This record gives sequence, structure tokens and C-alpha cells, in this order.
Amino acid sequence: MRVLRRLLTARNFQVCRMATAQGTFPTVKDQHFDYFLVLDFEATCDNTQKIIPQEIIEFPVLKLNPKTLQVESVFHQYVQPRAHKELTPFCIELTGIVQDMVDGQPHIEETLEKFHEWMKTELLDKDASFTFVTCGDWDLKTMLPSQCRHFNIPVRPYFKSWINIKKSFADVTGEFPKGMMPMLHKLQIPHRGRHHSGIDDCRNIAAILKGLLEKGYVFKNTGFST
Ligand code: AMP
Ligand code: MG
Ligand code: MG
Repeated sequence: MRVLRRLLTARNFQVCRMATAQGTFPTVKDQHFDYFLVLDFEATCDNTQKIIPQEIIEFPVLKLNPKTLQVESVFHQYVQPRAHKELTPFCIELTGIVQDMVDGQPHIEETLEKFHEWMKTELLDKDASFTFVTCGDWDLKTMLPSQCRHFNIPVRPYFKSWINIKKSFADVTGEFPKGMMPMLHKLQIPHRGRHHSGIDDCRNIAAILKGLLEKGYVFKNTGFST
């Protein structure tokens, strides 16, 4: 009985948070987008040489509703690299992604198709507006376009604008941050999980996004590519 009561209380609390987003988060303002897609790629790398072409090995995206501050859906795929199939010890140590996690996984083309199916279900077919949120410009200005150019893969138009959360953070605080860790520190948000795991990085970037939303910030796109 006591367990049931506790469960009901927890559930009521959640419903209450969701139903009265404006009341629970009175400082959160209306945004220009229905959803934020927090994205953080991990890619092949080494500490002694530049890997060319660099290839995405983890492709995680969180769909966050700014009205409720909840993550409503997750896309998460490990990706098999084609040019440099063997991950370097440095890359494994940095990202926590071991060889077994990429072997047998879809290549980038299939991953992009799976992602597009997810996009259709979650956003495109519902006519919901959205933008990507990344920490820095590397993911969508450099990494994805350069890999697609190298393997002759078209880049879908929805990848061509995004929010670099470092710029949003600088708008709010007046300080341009070096990275995710200093932003978490400044906002007094505990770091969770493993740094340089793509999915954990997404969760931490989402926490920063929520922190800035709660400060009343209205996000706008900061990055564009052609
Ligand atoms: P991050 O989102 O900061 O985890 O980094 C994304 C990708 O950038 C990693 O998967 C690596 O390919 C590369 N990277 C990040 N930090 C380093 C580093 N210290 N040395 C070499 N490559 C790095
Ligand atoms: Mg990153
Ligand atoms: Mg990362």
C-alpha cells in the first residue's frame, strides 16, 4: 500500500510538472521551435595523427520538448566506419566505444536513412518545427558534411542549421565557454555519465539547454551551412 502511494505521488508529480509547464517553470519563455534535437557525434580519431577521412561512430539525438523540458524520444545508433575499420586505442579510451560496438553496425548511409525514418515519425509527418543543438560547430559544420562529401552522400536540408549552445551560453552569461564541462560547472549542474560518450554528452548538453531555458533565454539558430 505504501509502495502504491509512493508510486502514485511520483506519478502525480510528473503529471503536474508536465501539465503546468509554465507554472512549474515560470521563467521558461515560448520558443521559436516545437522541439530541440540535441546531437553529439563521436568519430574515429587518434592522438598521434589526423585520421582522414574521419568517420562518425556514434550518432545520438535527443528530442526535447521546451514546454515540458522532457526528452520525448531518443535516436541512438553506433555506426561502422568504412575507411578506418579498426578503432585506435586512443579512440576507445576517449569515447568508451569498443570495436564490438561498431562491428556489424550499419554504415553511415544506412544510419542516415534510419535517422530520416525517425525524423519522419517524430517530426516531419507531424509538421513540428525543430532545430539541432550541438556543443560547438564541429558536428554539423565540419564532421557530417566532410564525411558526406568524401563518400558522396547527399546531406539532408534539415542538417543545415543549428544552435551552437556555446554561443547561447555566451549570450546569457557574457562569457564564451571552452566546452561542455565549464558550462556545467558555471550552471552548477552535475556532470553525468562518461565525457566523450555521445549519448552521455547529449544528456549533459540537454541539461545545459534546460538550464538556459529556465533562465528565460529564447534560443535562435547560430550556425548555417550551404
Ligand atoms: P566530443 O563530442 O567532445 O566527445 O568529441 C567528438 C569527437 O571529437 C570525438 O569522438 C573524437 O573523434 C574527437 N575528439 C574529441 N576530443 C579529442 C581529443 N582530445 N583528441 C583527438 N580527438 C578528439
Ligand atoms: Mg561533441
Ligand atoms: Mg561527445
